[in-house]
Amino acid sequence: MKRKLIERLDNGPVICAEGFLFEVEKRGYLASGEFVPMVALEHPEALENLHKDFQHAGSDIVEAFTYNGHREKMRVIGKDELLEPLNRAALKIAKKVADNPIDGGEPNLMAGNISNSNIWKEGDNDAQNEVHRMFSEMVEWAVDEGADMLVGETFYYAEEAYKALDIIQKSGLPSVITIAPMGVNTMMDGITVLDTLKELEQRGADVVGMNCFRGPATMMPYLREARKALKCHMAALPIPFRTSEAHPTFFNLPDDDSCTCPAPHGRTFPTALDPLYCNRYEIHEFGKEAAKLGINYLGVCCGATPMHIREVAEAAGLVVPASKYREKMENHFMYGTNERTAEHMQDFGDKA
Ligand SMILES: [Zn+2]
Repeated sequence: MKRKLIERLDNGPVICAEGFLFEVEKRGYLASGEFVPMVALEHPEALENLHKDFQHAGSDIVEAFTYNGHREKMRVIGKDELLEPLNRAALKIAKKVADNPIDGGEPNLMAGNISNSNIWKEGDNDAQNEVHRMFSEMVEWAVDEGADMLVGETFYYAEEAYKALDIIQKSGLPSVITIAPMGVNTMMDGITVLDTLKELEQRGADVVGMNCFRGPATMMPYLREARKALKCHMAALPIPFRTSEAHPTFFNLPDDDSCTCPAPHGRTFPTALDPLYCNRYEIHEFGKEAAKLGINYLGVCCGATPMHIREVAEAAGLVVPASKYREKMENHFMYGTNERTAEHMQDFGDKA
């Protein structure tokens, strides 16, 4: 038995791990900055392993890693001809993992993925038609490879998000559309975040919300507001970084905390964000609040590790395979409370 996305959301939280780009890069299989998901072709085992790690941490959805795997990006690196093989390979890997849940129970959902094209331009028909073609071919491949649902994500133009929804809807599969406003706190075509989310609901998106660019601190204010205005299912997938009112996204996040060796390219994004991570308790708090608000589609985007996914899942009240390994400080050699913890080590704790 495999329930569909909406049925699952009607029953409670559904977890979707994202952030493949950053995590695959950290694992050594992808170039930062360039950010092309060639890993599906070049190191399929590495991608499969990451999917399995997220699945173990509680992800109910296995999202095919085709983020940036679109025609425009492939042209940038001169590998246009590998576009379809790359998409199909990523979808097949996701399908394989989704069909093999850890406990042998209900299979996960496999999601196809389209995302910000980076060529969308207001009033430019040629650019918009090209985006239409890019989205259409990717959706076609996802349907062909057996996707259960389609995610359109990280849109910073409202109209591009509507375009993605339109193309996804033609496939007949459930649609999840998440937007990612830049630091100007509105969509690039001038539409407010709330109006964009409302419009996506009006147009019939099954799930609408936000992903990427923003940490919980600068994403949740919009979602709190939207939750009051929307009736449909909502999604929240922030990045696990400490964004602030002064720096709402991770693109211009400064490292003011005694950094002695800044990145040669002059910014913390994307390779020197490490000291700016939210800790797991902050991510837990995000998950708890979002779930309490009734935002049932939950995850973490760029920067996410399986640990963050487990935190969100547990914050939403779920017990996942990785819950077996959540912290057990009581057995620590110095800070533990276990009766075998040596007293002289406990005493030393504050000086260690
Ligand atoms: Zn992201």
